[in-house]
Amino acid sequence: NTPYIGPEEVLRKKKEYLIPCVYHFYNQPMQLVKGEMQYLYDSTGKKYLDCFAGVSVVNCGHCHPEITKAICDQVTTLQHTCTIYLTQNIVNLAERLAQITPGRLQKTFFCASGTEANEGAALLASIYTGKHEFISLRQGLHGRTKLTMSLTGLSLWRTDTTPVGGISFAPNAYCYRCPYSKRHPECDLACANEIETVIKTTTSGQVAALIAEPVQGNGGIITPPPGYFKRVKEILDKYNILLIIDEVQTGFGRTGKMFAIEHYGVEPDIMTMAKALANGTPVGAFTSRAEIADKYTRPGASTLGGNPVTATAALATLDVITKNDLPAQAAELGQYLKNGLSELQKKHPIIGDIRGLGLMLGAEMVNPDKSPAPQKLDAILEQMKDRGFLIGKNGPDRNVMAFQPPLVITHDDIDNLLNNLADVLTAVA
Ligand code: PMP
Repeated sequence: NTPYIGPEEVLRKKKEYLIPCVYHFYNQPMQLVKGEMQYLYDSTGKKYLDCFAGVSVVNCGHCHPEITKAICDQVTTLQHTCTIYLTQNIVNLAERLAQITPGRLQKTFFCASGTEANEGAALLASIYTGKHEFISLRQGLHGRTKLTMSLTGLSLWRTDTTPVGGISFAPNAYCYRCPYSKRHPECDLACANEIETVIKTTTSGQVAALIAEPVQGNGGIITPPPGYFKRVKEILDKYNILLIIDEVQTGFGRTGKMFAIEHYGVEPDIMTMAKALANGTPVGAFTSRAEIADKYTRPGASTLGGNPVTATAALATLDVITKNDLPAQAAELGQYLKNGLSELQKKHPIIGDIRGLGLMLGAEMVNPDKSPAPQKLDAILEQMKDRGFLIGKNGPDRNVMAFQPPLVITHDDIDNLLNNLADVLTAVA
């Protein structure tokens, strides 16, 4: 006699009352009812190791006691006022972000999702430069509004048949399937160099910004080689084009540094954040250096953006991340998991490529001729779910197994995951 309606009834109501674009994983999905750090529980009491963290959101773990307490204290004291009144946590949070974000990034606008953060960043770029075009990378994902979907290169997420104009696409740094059939470093970063050709040939010269994820998440954990973003920035600077770095999926320790762009030693002109910033409380933000941000002076309000509860949740999240040095933990555990996956790859040629940084890792599933193997991946993920492991899936061909667990996962959890994966890979092969 549980209080839960169960997965069949959830599915039935979902079909009847949610717009069908809200899609779900698994042939036999479960109803999740409880989270505890790196573990999730379904309505039957079955326990799962969460290897996806709700797409890089609960970096500190589900229902982290310190974050939960901070939220509860705030929600029972002052839940909401709009930014037209003064409250202190929104400014304290902005100050903290100025301290932890790269270089001169200093002034922040808070909103409620990653989509909105990218939409706002694009607007700020236009306000500052007076230009209206954008460049985006193939396989990138930036959101689901009219503009951010138009900036999204990944065809699965481009539902809109009438996208916004003035957006040009450049190749992403997909080294495993290099469109030039080259290898790094002999390639001399041909994909980055191509951006200059795009600027000169497919734009009208009115480009406000290029937007890119430092590591493409939904695109298949596409991890650019060293030097990539330095080259991109040099090209953009030559044409007075801003660099917007979308850290929505990569930020807050996920890749082994606080922000993934730090791996490339580049300072973005504008940076966007969401997801893990408040460990699951809806938040988004874009930040820029004063020179750019100060051009945005006309009134702009986000009713829920950085409200007392969200700002408090984010401050508590940042405390947990820094106090426990979760970026360093992600680097160490990520290497441990990567090594384990590399061992599996030796025995299982279905694993064509392993890539990523920290605890944002992808394993691309392929057939012997290197063609994508999405059905085999689905079979693997279903069996892993039945064994109590929730793993993600992404990439343009939906054949990349994605590991993005809470950063508080343990070595034992990883050993367990790898042992089960070894069995399932053998079974599916
Ligand atoms: N940017 C990136 C890189 C993302 O991964 C996502 C969501 N998957 C978004 C933007 C959109 O964020 P949200 O769903 O919070 O609007």
